[in-house]
Amino acid sequence: MRRRETHSEGLRVYAHVEAYPRFDIQEASRALRAGTPDVVWQDRQVKNIGLAVPIWENRNRLFLSYIFEDTPNMDACRGSQRFDVVYDGPFERFHKPYLICPSCKDKVQFVCFKDEVWLCRTCHGLKNRTALIGTKARRSEQAAELERVLVDPDTRTLARPSGMHQATYQRKRARLSKLNKQLSHERVDASTDYAFVITAQWRKASASELESAGADWDKRHAPATAASRPLVTPSLLTEDDQDPD
Ligand SMILES: [Zn+2]
Repeated sequence: MRRRETHSEGLRVYAHVEAYPRFDIQEASRALRAGTPDVVWQDRQVKNIGLAVPIWENRNRLFLSYIFEDTPNMDACRGSQRFDVVYDGPFERFHKPYLICPSCKDKVQFVCFKDEVWLCRTCHGLKNRTALIGTKARRSEQAAELERVLVDPDTRTLARPSGMHQATYQRKRARLSKLNKQLSHERVDASTDYAFVITAQWRKASASELESAGADWDKRHAPATAASRPLVTPSLLTEDDQDPD
């Protein structure tokens, strides 16, 4: 089922989770209920690098069709994988879903796509980027992110953004001040080893995105319109819908 599209030389083996496409079942569950049933992965330049369409087969089984373009850490590929889904309580409508890692059978919130298979980060040997970049680089990034939110672009000074509660603003300001103190007002960039980061965006993929994902992509799993997509959520299914196996 999985099919290699192209071959590229010198793929990098990144050690951080964020360098790989992640499929988060709790995000998926929320998105499917909200009617935004596709996930698009992008790199830091906001370039689309992949797309997936998840479909509930029943409340304990999810089918994921995906397609990826060439990236620094992966050959272009497409395929599909089934996941067992469990809930942390008897009433699945009110409890969080978890994926069963196909390899170690652990209950996990997300799986990562690496070496053409979706597994939990432990099985793939991946660590959080923040744990790897070092304390100074981590604090520098946190400070930069706080400044992005708190610094008024016109006046270049700290100002409470409209819509932010005063208490939140004061807390973020205090956090930024503490970080600056810890950093002695110096900033350190993370190693370029950790520059490649992929983020997921849940939305309805456009017709052209689905088309660019490949005209020969199995129509059953990538219907051209949302209307033809078998969109069901686990809470709408009954025991009778469960697989016989
Ligand atoms: Zn695992």
